[in-house]
Amino acid sequence: RKFIFVTGGVMSGLGKGITAASTGRLLANAGFDVTAVKIDPYLNVDAGTMNPYQHGEVYVLKDGGEVDLDLGNYERFLGVDMTSDHNVTTGKTYQHVIEKERAGDYLGKTVQVIPHVTDDIKRRIREAAEGSDVCLVEIGGTVGDIEGMPYLEALRQFAHEEDDEDILFTHVTLVPYSKNGEQKTKPTQHSVKELRSIGLQPDVLVGRCDDELDDSTKEKIALFCDVPTEAVFSNPDVDDVYHVPLTVEEEGLDQHVMERLELAEEALPEDER
Ligand code: ADP
Repeated sequence: RKFIFVTGGVMSGLGKGITAASTGRLLANAGFDVTAVKIDPYLNVDAGTMNPYQHGEVYVLKDGGEVDLDLGNYERFLGVDMTSDHNVTTGKTYQHVIEKERAGDYLGKTVQVIPHVTDDIKRRIREAAEGSDVCLVEIGGTVGDIEGMPYLEALRQFAHEEDDEDILFTHVTLVPYSKNGEQKTKPTQHSVKELRSIGLQPDVLVGRCDDELDDSTKEKIALFCDVPTEAVFSNPDVDDVYHVPLTVEEEGLDQHVMERLELAEEALPEDER
């Protein structure tokens, strides 16, 4: 089974969820069973108690789970039904670990974020991925947030436990324009530096920008972030988010991901997708 971990840099609301869902759509078109897990690093157990003015509407799943709106994107883009197990929150994870602690399941051990919380996070991801060929795992928030740290550590361990060809890290960042009309890569460089400082090296970088990234911008990002230029993709603003799968397909994101994950040979031929 393959896992695609999607992190975000610079700021939230960039389009991380849409980028992940679009990647998933293209892999589904290529014949793979794709599912997704959304990680929300907040202490609420679920989104049911959250103010919709702050957080957007609560999305209700078939099993009654009250979850983040992003799960709605995944259901629509991937054409699959999700359950509450596909939304991992810090509230759920800690509640479960604390219940186990009260029941004496840890046999007197000191219960800690590492390994007990990180183990529970890894278990949740593996269970939600059961039955799929590819599982997208989106980490809410931005790299560097204190709340997200246990998740990034869990992903680092997860990648260590799996084979290299089964794990792909995608980092979505902002590429803003300066006043004189240049595409600026510094925010991307800083967020990748932050990722690398906790032991994660992105395999694929997706730049959200008003327009497509220039070749020179891609080359600069590749050089400073230590990825091949072919692994840097544009995700420009579009009028309709349902066009994003098409724009990233034109960039060759799906092909790159399939080759990196050694899925290309099993994929449906392009004219059958
Ligand atoms: P994140 O997961 O980074 O918080 P989302 O994927 O939820 O971000 O997207 C945030 C907002 O940006 C949504 O309203 C979404 O429709 C919009 N958006 C995402 N990608 C694009 C794009 N390529 N062009 C235009 N709008 C986009």
